[in-house]
Amino acid sequence: MIILVINCGSSSIKFQLFDMPTKKDMAKGLIERIGEDDAKITYKYNGEKHVEVLPIKDHKAGLAKLAQMITDEKTGVISSLSEIEAVGHRVVHGGECYNSSVLIDETVIKGIDECAELAPLHNPPNLMGINEAMSMFPGAKNVAVFDTAFHQTIPDYAFTYPLPHKYYEDYKVRRYGFHGTSHAYVTERSAELLGKPVDQVNLITCHLGNGCSITAVKNGKSVDTSMGLTPLEGLVMGTRSGDIDPAILFYLAKKENLKMEDFDRILNKESGLLGISGISNDQRNLEDLQDTNERAKLALDIFDYKLKKYIGSYMAVLNDVDAIVFTGGIGENGSLTRGKSCSGLEALGVQIDDRKNEETIRGKEGEISKPSSKVKILVVPTDEEGRIASDTYQLVK
Ligand code: ADP
Repeated sequence: MIILVINCGSSSIKFQLFDMPTKKDMAKGLIERIGEDDAKITYKYNGEKHVEVLPIKDHKAGLAKLAQMITDEKTGVISSLSEIEAVGHRVVHGGECYNSSVLIDETVIKGIDECAELAPLHNPPNLMGINEAMSMFPGAKNVAVFDTAFHQTIPDYAFTYPLPHKYYEDYKVRRYGFHGTSHAYVTERSAELLGKPVDQVNLITCHLGNGCSITAVKNGKSVDTSMGLTPLEGLVMGTRSGDIDPAILFYLAKKENLKMEDFDRILNKESGLLGISGISNDQRNLEDLQDTNERAKLALDIFDYKLKKYIGSYMAVLNDVDAIVFTGGIGENGSLTRGKSCSGLEALGVQIDDRKNEETIRGKEGEISKPSSKVKILVVPTDEEGRIASDTYQLVK
């Protein structure tokens, strides 16, 4: 069964074509800067890479370009769009409605639209992708895979904020958590690597990319996670602050006459590694500069310290931890971050192996703890697209 996976962002479309159930990667690509005259298309197929810059007016035009590339005489990997039997869509917010992936129908479309209030930057483009795919691939079934679904098992005492309860009752203000597809994938894969059934593993999964989140997984299910109502809470991220004292906002509002929109921008786009360092949101740039630039070093120190604090608190949540799992661009490559966040935890049963840690980078999977470590440390490259394809296949077959 040929399955197309689509991840529509506000100005981008990430896609991958799979042959299921073998999960063979037939083609994949990224269309960036949609809406601009210099949209960039990166397309990989049969070991070839094709890059093109051209105007792409909107998501509809982006999907039309995708359809043309995968069926083109030269770059194509299928001969007709009708070969695509299903399309799997990444949807960021499923609110409390969805605890697993679903076949898309009118009710689901309405549900995703209703959740758009909780994710105004993400759900509208996700929905646009769904609507366009439905008209472009009329014979295909469509499946929604929600970032929030994996976290719907979090208990009420962990998802409820200590605010007047009416805000939960009236507006569903609560912790939802994100990156669920990635946390779910690495949970299943880690269980395989540990040789245990997934419903018997206790893990701390760290998804560290531009956005970062950490999840406590008990018996294969999410029981707590660092992102909250929105993907702003929790760990330090590339440009997002993560946790701060909310009273900072009142204080700064008075000092600098700042408005809601200013805080939205400051906390989401101007904080985190970029805000602290004043240099970059990219971990690699900061690592290159940390010996000569104090603020680059401070940004990395804060990032690693916050991560270590969360690891410690989730060890308390879980009591018995099989493994700490690293994934995402920083989790898969950042041996310095892995080393610093797992150091000094020997009394809690965590012993990192420095050599294995340094060697496990660039897509390598494996264990980086010492054989004597009670809690294993694993690096598992994430596969969100593959997980979306698997869910889609399960629902459609
Ligand atoms: P996204 O969340 O946008 O998918 P990624 O998962 O690709 O992002 O992660 C991006 C982050 O990964 C950046 O901070 C980047 O610096 C970091 N990263 C990638 N490679 C390395 C590396 N070799 N060492 C440290 N950090 C890395």
